[in-house]
Amino acid sequence: MYRAVHMAFFGSVVTPLVAALALFAATAAIAPALARDRPLTVVTTIAQIGEPLRVIAGDRAEVKSLLGEGVDPHLYRPTRSDVIRLAAADVVFWSGLDLEVQMKDTLGRLAATRPVVAIAERLPPSLLLTTPGAAHDPHVWMDPDLWRQALAAAVETLAGADPEGDEFYRTRAQAYFARLGELNSYIHTVVASIPESARTVVTAHDAFNYFGARYGLDVIGIQGISTESEAGLAAVEGLVTLLVERRIPAVFVETSVPERHIRALIEGAAAKGHTVIVGGALFSDAMGAPGSWEGTYIGMLDHNATILARALGGTAPAGGLAGRLAVPAQSGGRQ
Ligand code: ZN
Repeated sequence: MYRAVHMAFFGSVVTPLVAALALFAATAAIAPALARDRPLTVVTTIAQIGEPLRVIAGDRAEVKSLLGEGVDPHLYRPTRSDVIRLAAADVVFWSGLDLEVQMKDTLGRLAATRPVVAIAERLPPSLLLTTPGAAHDPHVWMDPDLWRQALAAAVETLAGADPEGDEFYRTRAQAYFARLGELNSYIHTVVASIPESARTVVTAHDAFNYFGARYGLDVIGIQGISTESEAGLAAVEGLVTLLVERRIPAVFVETSVPERHIRALIEGAAAKGHTVIVGGALFSDAMGAPGSWEGTYIGMLDHNATILARALGGTAPAGGLAGRLAVPAQSGGRQ
């Protein structure tokens, strides 16, 4: 082939020859994608994408998540080292639906030179929930059945970027998705054990709507309520009434909610003869510590479902789905 190109251009026009050789060299540089001599470099925003893909891709890819434990994706801005990591990636995955809103421009620029896929945006809009602002609710990972479909879009992209691994990715994805199916069944079972009247999740952050929709729980977010204002006091009063009327035994908080608001709820309910406890902290936008069970996507949802069910009067094994949950001393302990 080289000879043919050479013959065609030799002695007549030098520049096209150089251009042809440059093109040949460029094609040769891309060729390792067909027979890779190194793992695919994959960068994700949230770990709810990265950890499952690490399980699925095994040795064929090095998967790095930019957002770690306790990091808020709504506010996160890419650092200089993130930008360097992203620039070196073969493939980039983010969740989208305006979750990582501060990273949108950076990711948009990268999309010109490599696959950059917003996996939650690959779902049919009919499956998505909307927020009061009429935008789509971005917290799709709270529903493992929807998240499986979003991850499947990522697996397609991996197979496209590393065609030799196609069968490998698909086989391992099926095995992982089967585990998600077991998780889904477990959550259905433990939520069904909660007395029907108590199937209400009062939590700090509006991250649990997909979870509530999938498993039949009412979800009430208390973020933004201020006891400083008349409206805030009325909102707390309203919430106290709801807790008492439905006999809801627990609320779920995160450190971002001022302690006094929670105290106001607990004292308000107590004044009406109803005991409310803090049911424990749920994982919302970030998973637990890397290396722990709660630091896996399945472990994160296992933790949430198990803590919820136990605190709301249902039955669930303290160790959760796989007996691997860390059980804090004050985990609610209602059974
Ligand atoms: Zn959120």
